[in-house]
This record gives sequence, structure tokens and C-alpha cells, in this order.
Amino acid sequence: SPSRYSVIIIGAGVSGLSAAKVLTENGLEDLVILEASDRIGGRVRKEDFGGVSVELGAGWIAGVGGKESNPVWELANQSGLRTCFSDYSNARYNIYDRSGKIFPSGLAADSYKKAVDSAIQQLRKEEAIKELEVRGGGCDVSRVTEPPSSPKTPIELAIDFILHDFEMAEVEPISTYVDFGEQEYLVADERGYEYLLYKMAEDFLFTSEGNILDSRLKLNKVVRELQQSRNGVKVLTEDGCVYEANYVVLSASIGVLQSDLISFRPPLPRWKMEAIETCDVMVYTKIFLKFPYKFWPCGPEKEFFIYAHERRGYYTFWQHMENAFPGSNILVVTLTNGESKRVEGQSDEETLKEAMGVLRDMFGPNIPNATDILVPRWWNNRFQRGSYSNYPIISNPLLFQNIKAPVGRIFFTGEHTSERFNGYVHGGYLAGIDTGKALIEEIRKERKSDQSSNNLL
Ligand code: FAD
Repeated sequence: SPSRYSVIIIGAGVSGLSAAKVLTENGLEDLVILEASDRIGGRVRKEDFGGVSVELGAGWIAGVGGKESNPVWELANQSGLRTCFSDYSNARYNIYDRSGKIFPSGLAADSYKKAVDSAIQQLRKEEAIKELEVRGGGCDVSRVTEPPSSPKTPIELAIDFILHDFEMAEVEPISTYVDFGEQEYLVADERGYEYLLYKMAEDFLFTSEGNILDSRLKLNKVVRELQQSRNGVKVLTEDGCVYEANYVVLSASIGVLQSDLISFRPPLPRWKMEAIETCDVMVYTKIFLKFPYKFWPCGPEKEFFIYAHERRGYYTFWQHMENAFPGSNILVVTLTNGESKRVEGQSDEETLKEAMGVLRDMFGPNIPNATDILVPRWWNNRFQRGSYSNYPIISNPLLFQNIKAPVGRIFFTGEHTSERFNGYVHGGYLAGIDTGKALIEEIRKERKSDQSSNNLL
């Protein structure tokens, strides 16, 4: 007969682990964590590349130096994680055109200001539309504000990409910066960002010599079906196992929830399905390239540089890794959404060829070929289906509530359930704590009502 637990946690990313930590701290020891892949960490993931550890997923601890302390920054300090200060605000002054010339800083600053103004204008327009919708007015929205001019030239397109796909300028104010501060630190540690997750797991799972040996963590368990009844939930995995619990905490990403990986019996209610469908998924891809030697400028304020091309998002945003790992001779280029999906679908050789073409545009024909390339595929990973949640610019608070709300005995967690910090590691961490606490509350209530009905008997 299937094993019966108090709680089954699906997913061992940061949110599943922080939920498990809260539950065990509150005395709920009989839980099990089912993780589809062969490791903990989820979207926090390092890989050895070119002699160092590179981060395929989260790379920055964002939100440091503010009025409140970012809990992930605290974890990093407690575990002695090596990080380095990283400031990409200067990237806009290192914009290369296709002939390798750097745009004059005045022109770059002007274009940047124009793009920011246009983003603000767009935001106001969306707000006005929302306002009209709320009031039920039928007035012509186009008259509320002038339409912002859309970016056309390569430099405008490049800045538009940086602002929206990288800096998230359309979300104003960004709660992470408001609460935790505007500084960002790049993780530069051989043990990887995931070391923080391991340290967290160590508090409540049995570990030895850097390995988690606790039988409550089950790897390679792909959950395919959740059958919910009045008294509990049955969880069916791809390898034919069945687990039963009073409650389930589901931490799979919004992309996975949108896919058909997990089926629900009975099906999820309509309000839940609609909320899941409404939330967008952002694909964000960091491509790593290893070179025999450096040919890019490495002085102060040169860590980031931009390539302006007539196709938006075409190998636009570049970073060298010399600050994080001196002497590593590694460059990183970030692609998003359509470009990410396109590159995931082609061979790494083709991607290497494209990237080298771009680098030769910027630095001339004589630069050396990259000796190695690493292309993460978050979109095609069936346990991820994208990089992080991306809520509509002006979203209804009800949307967050519905994404987060439990359905019977199934509780939802993950970065996408964090209203203030979705898309970040600290969002996932805090969401797990939140869901863990909500579940503890629910269990206490249930126990109380069981006791009172027993008294009645
Ligand atoms: P996940 O880490 O996805 O954990 C969910 C787990 O569930 C996974 O381990 C998955 O394998 C498992 N799972 C899925 N389906 C099943 C199933 N059917 N059965 C069993 N298990 C299943 N954040 C930052 O703060 N700073 C950054 O610089 C940053 N950059 C990023 C760059 C990239 C490329 C990506 C991908 C993400 C980035 N993020 C960044 C976001 C951050 O990584 C995430 O917000 C966070 O790690 C999400 O944690 P989570 O627990 O919600 O989800």
C-alpha cells in the first residue's frame, strides 16, 4: 500500500525547500519531497565550464543595501558564499554598432532617456485604460495619451531590449529595490549559488560529506497526476509509484503548470486555470563562451557591453566574467523569449557561429574562435518550461491571489506566487515560507475542528 505522509512537497527548488524547512521547524517531520530531476536547486543551477562554475539559472542576488535585509543575502553571508558587486547601469555607454564603433555617450544617454520616457508613457496609458475599464467608460483610449513612438533604429532597439527584457523598466517601482536596496551582487563561487540551498536543506535533512542522504528527499520522481479526495491527495509518479498525503505543496513553475506534465483529478477549477493561463512566462538564456585569451576591454565600467543590431534582441547584452573569475576568458551573452526559443531549437555549432559573427562585428575579424560554448535550454526543459513568471504590467491583485490560492488540499508555492518578488530567488524563498506557514495554520485548524467533533461524539 502507498506510504502515507502528512505533506508531500513537489519540487526541490528554493521554494519547495524553504516550505519544507518551515514545516519541519513546526514539528511536521513526516513529509516527503518529490523532485523530478536528479538534483536539488531547480532554477538555481551551476555547471562546470571552462575551468570555473557558471550559473545557468539565477546569477545575481538582487536587492542589497536597502532598509530591509534581503533574506537570500543573509543566507549568502552566513554560508560565506563568494559574491562580487555588479553594476550594469554603465552598459548603455558601451554600445557597439555593427562596424565596431561605440556610440557617443551623449547619443546613448539621449536614446536611453527617450526610451525611459516612452516606457513611462506606456505605463500611464495602461493605467488609464485600466481606470476606464474599472469605470466602465466607453471613451476612446487613444485620446488619453499620445501613443509612444516605437523603437526603430538599432540603438533604440538595443536600449528597448535592455530596459524591458533585462531591467524590467515597465514595472515601477520594483519592490525588490524598494524593500532591499538597489545593489546587485553576482555569485562567483565554485560551489555555486546552489550551495545556499544545500545549506538550507542541511538544517532539516540528513546530510553527510556534502550529500543529502535523507530518505525524505526523493530524486527522479516525476509527478504526473494528483488525485484529490475529501481526506487527502494521491500523488502518482512517472515510474509508477503512488504516494499519499493529507496535503500537497506544489512548487512547479508557472510554465510547468501551463503544460500537461501534471494532471489534476478532479480538474483544477476554472478560476485557477484562468489565472495560470494569464501569467506570462519569460525565457531568459545566458550563453557562455570560452576563449583562449581576452580581446575585449576590461577596465572599470566595461563589464557589460551592448551590440546594436536591426533585429531586436539579437545577441544584444554581453558581459565578461573577469570580475567574477579573473583569467577565465569567458563571455556571457543574454537572449530572451523569441531569440531564446530560436537558439534552443538549433545546434550549438550554429549558435556559436552566430555569436562569433556578432563578436567580429564588434571587435574585428582577427579575434580568436571560442573554444567552448554552453547553451542552457530552460524553455525545452519539461520540468521548467521557461525561466520565470512575468505578470502583465498592470495586473489585477486578484490574479496573484488566484495563482497562490490553495485548491482543497493542494497548496501552491514558487516564485510565481510571490506578489512582491516574483521572478527572483528571494521571491521563491519567501513564497515557500509563506505557503509553509499557511499550511501549518490550516493543519492546526483541521486538528481543532477534529477535536471538537470528537468531543461532540
Ligand atoms: P524551481 O527552482 O523551478 O523549483 C521547482 C522544482 O520543481 C524544480 O526543481 C523542478 O525540477 C521540480 N518539478 C517541476 N515539475 C515537477 C514534477 N512534475 N514532479 C516533481 N518535480 C517537479 N533570480 C534572481 O534572484 N536573480 C537572478 O539573477 C536570476 N536570474 C535568473 C536567470 C535564469 C536563466 C533563470 C532561469 C532564473 C533566474 N532567476 C533569478 C529566477 C530564480 O532562479 C527563480 O525565481 C527561483 O529559483 C525559482 O524557484 P522555485 O522554487 O519557485 O522554482
